[in-house]
Amino acid sequence: MSGERRVLVIGGGLAGIAAALDCAAAGARVTLVEVRRRLGGAAYSFERDGMHFDNGQHVFLRCCSAYRSLLARLGSEHHVSVQERLEIPVLSPRAQPVVLRRGSLPPPFHLAGALARYPHLSPSERLSAALAARALTSLDPADPALDGQTFGAWLAERGQDAHAVSVLWDLIALPTLNVPAAEASLALGAFVFRTGLLTGADAGDIGFHVGTLAETIGEPAERALADAGVQFRLGWRAHGLRRTGAGFEVEGGEGGFSSEAVIVALPHARAAGLLEALLPQLAQTVRGLGSSPIVNLHVVFDRVVCEEPFAAGVDTPVQYVFDRSAAAGAPPGCQYLAVSLSAADEQMRMSVDELRARYVPALKELLPGARDATVERFLATREHAATFRAVPGTAVLRPRPRTSVPGLVLAGSWTDTGWPATLEGAVMSGHAAAAEALAALALEPAAPNAHGPQASTAATGEPGAVPG
Ligand SMILES: Cc1cc2nc3c(=O)[nH]c(=O)nc-3n(C[C@H](O)[C@H](O)[C@H](O)COP(=O)(O)OP(=O)(O)OC[C@H]3O[C@@H](n4cnc5c(N)ncnc54)[C@H](O)[C@@H]3O)c2cc1C
Repeated sequence: MSGERRVLVIGGGLAGIAAALDCAAAGARVTLVEVRRRLGGAAYSFERDGMHFDNGQHVFLRCCSAYRSLLARLGSEHHVSVQERLEIPVLSPRAQPVVLRRGSLPPPFHLAGALARYPHLSPSERLSAALAARALTSLDPADPALDGQTFGAWLAERGQDAHAVSVLWDLIALPTLNVPAAEASLALGAFVFRTGLLTGADAGDIGFHVGTLAETIGEPAERALADAGVQFRLGWRAHGLRRTGAGFEVEGGEGGFSSEAVIVALPHARAAGLLEALLPQLAQTVRGLGSSPIVNLHVVFDRVVCEEPFAAGVDTPVQYVFDRSAAAGAPPGCQYLAVSLSAADEQMRMSVDELRARYVPALKELLPGARDATVERFLATREHAATFRAVPGTAVLRPRPRTSVPGLVLAGSWTDTGWPATLEGAVMSGHAAAAEALAALALEPAAPNAHGPQASTAATGEPGAVPG
């Protein structure tokens, strides 16, 4: 080792941002490279004809303390808002709207009232669902055996038929796992339900981005990295990684960078490509993770058609709908609804016209106020590899941050965080990777301070980040 303490972070998503800030706080000389001309990775915004759209609706939970602490560190927590109490309005073309709301009893009884009144299940189905939820609390998501079967098979064994899965379990499984419960790993399904709904009464209160993702993540991250002394190069693609006597050489479009430690914070398929030469076995393993798509539809109506800030749909192809008018700067009097479609393999193959032909009538069926409204704009965003595919067998494919090459470290929401691919998992992975890189450089991590990952009010679970 040359005695220098240089860290190169490759990838400017949440994992790379968190890792770079930690390394810089510990005294390393940090450079971050990112192929796109903005930070934020998979969570980004774009402008189209005066409106600001997010590529996909991103929600998080009150228990996502690593993500919320990072926002505090970036100074952008005022761009998010956490519900005072878990509430999911559920719309159906065949029934009156209902709200799944948690009560004040300790878990799991805080959800008993919501389930007892849930009209999309019969009384016997509600009892059966409550017993299945109770049984989930006894599962250990870290048990390797749980990753050998699907959540759907486990639910079926507990009397949850396709109807119950569709109107109840998939309301949570689809947006959090990005695969239907029928295909999901039981380990990840149990993790999500236990962590979000069954362990702490307020853990599953939902957090929303009041501002755009660019305002909340990418733009403040640029300022925070600059303030922390991190050099960053946007529009720079890393395409080769090799060892040198003193550390590593990373090659890119224009020249390269040398460093004593490298944190690879890329999407898993890209990471596999970069790691191929040094760690061929690991690269092959990581490719096995596969991917799952998310499609978002952006529909601007000529009037207000939906009173709810967000809602889930049952008995409709509309999975979740979000009112994004304010964040996007929709024209006065208009309402912009974003329809979020997880596990969207089928929708990825549909043209924009086909998506419009299916989803605009579905929205009009779901929202009485939309029936006479005119659609002013309709666009679709597609993320073909939004997350890794959270199916059985993935636990052994997710690597820890430390590799067998000293100083070469991995980060990303696909690494072994225990979480599915989420904002929270990405930030956690960044912190874990930084700790490994710093250890390789014999540097002590900085003690958490007022802006550190453990110290913010967000991390304490106190109610409500400040609404924007
Ligand atoms: C549409 C959509 C909706 C989602 N909804 C939610 C949600 O509601 N809640 C939630 O918690 N999570 C959600 N997620 C998942 C969440 O966004 C991701 O898990 C998280 O942002 C991943 O962060 P990351 O840093 O691990 O990876 P990424 O954000 O993918 O960052 C990797 C970075 O590496 C860059 N890069 C790639 N190749 C190179 C190269 N050769 N050289 C340099 N840079 C390179 C990429 O441009 C990217 O910026 C969603 C994702 C999508 C796509």
